Amino acid sequence: MPNVALKNLCLYAFLLYALGAVTSASNSAAFGTATIDVIVERNRDSDDFRFPTIPLPAVDDDAVKATWAVARGVIDGNSPGLSILYDGRMPPTNDSPDANFFFAGSASARSISVDLGESIEIGEVTAYSWHSGGRAPQVYSLYGAVELNDGQPWNRLDDGTNPPEVGWIKIADVDTRERQARGGQHASRVAQADVGIGTFRYLLFDIQTVDPKDPFGNTFFSEIDIVAKSNAIVKRIEAPELDLIEFSSNDGRYQYVVDVTAAPAMSSWTKTELQPIIQEWYPKIVELLPSDNFSAPNKVVFRYQPNSKMNGIPAYAQSATITLNSEWMYRERNREAKGAVVHEMVHVVQAYQSNQSNRERRARRRSTPGWIVEGIPDYIRWYLYEPQSKGAVLSKEVRSQSKHDASYRVSANFIDWVIRSHDRDGSLLRNLNSVARKGEYTSDIWQKLTGKTEAELADSWRGE
Ligand SMILES: [Zn+2]
Repeated sequence: MPNVALKNLCLYAFLLYALGAVTSASNSAAFGTATIDVIVERNRDSDDFRFPTIPLPAVDDDAVKATWAVARGVIDGNSPGLSILYDGRMPPTNDSPDANFFFAGSASARSISVDLGESIEIGEVTAYSWHSGGRAPQVYSLYGAVELNDGQPWNRLDDGTNPPEVGWIKIADVDTRERQARGGQHASRVAQADVGIGTFRYLLFDIQTVDPKDPFGNTFFSEIDIVAKSNAIVKRIEAPELDLIEFSSNDGRYQYVVDVTAAPAMSSWTKTELQPIIQEWYPKIVELLPSDNFSAPNKVVFRYQPNSKMNGIPAYAQSATITLNSEWMYRERNREAKGAVVHEMVHVVQAYQSNQSNRERRARRRSTPGWIVEGIPDYIRWYLYEPQSKGAVLSKEVRSQSKHDASYRVSANFIDWVIRSHDRDGSLLRNLNSVARKGEYTSDIWQKLTGKTEAELADSWRGE
């Protein structure tokens, strides 16, 4: 059955080609002779669905008036269902099942279909998703139809059916995954400048799992916008004005952004008290922890988040972003706050998780024990940044009953003792970090660096 929309689009595309107006994008789907642009963008710096070029989610787009159906697959019981996709509201956190649509299990066939009520010229289809980890990326194919083959309902698709078999026309393939898949906010936009993506009454999102081996690999879809070509003025969600403090290291090598949007009360303290610490200590930490073929991130983002989004954690680092608990930082601004930021900056420089360029090397690497991962930042914090606070000093009695691998301050105390008593040439910290960064840490390193085994060192440390 010839399809009117397809014919029109092909003709239109042909004219554009003749005029030299169509440029093909790298991530594009051939559609007749037309090229549909698929733009993929990610936001890992803020929680407000701001992307470099993709606009904020729409509130009054044509998805709102449409009828939505699960054509195949099962909605996860923790998702409120399809209405969340067009309610114009975004999830409050990066792990909000009750504010996202997602399928259950890992069955191969799962599709959402949409009836727009009548055939309309569609300008763009944009999908937004958000998760802290593997549920952020989107992998789907978008189909459209004016009508389907005889007897084929728009809102049902059998498991074994390839959509084109029943009349669906492929518009685009979308895949927002990256080689090192990570969380964040993802947006995909299927559009074609000026032309629109075609005239359709029905749309079908044929959705794949992000990772077929992961039973929880179902995308957390936060919002899907369908905008008619004629719907030129779309109302967008309102994102708060960002309040950013931006500065660089004194030598200009490193850039820093502190997002104080969520903590206006911390703005002046951040400028006068925290900024100088970041400027002085980030480059120092980079210098303390060099290794071959490694360069530390040259842009670090700090952002305050309310305690309600932090589960009580004071601060954490994820790649080159450090998240700070506003309430905790305020309370500790004259005590622990700056030291905690120094500790987190060490995690950014350690880069133990992200410093693996390919899957094979990741598979071979050993994970560094937690007491090394946390002991090094606490050593740098308590013994180099703020030795006067004596925050990791242990009394003779406490030390005699302590375990050197008890992590944080206790392990910092142990590392300090080993460095003071057994580091012949000042290279111990550097070498310890270097093997951990490569994913090659084993207990043997202590013997290599000091001539004594880890157990011998721990015994002497306890007895001192
Ligand atoms: Zn830590």
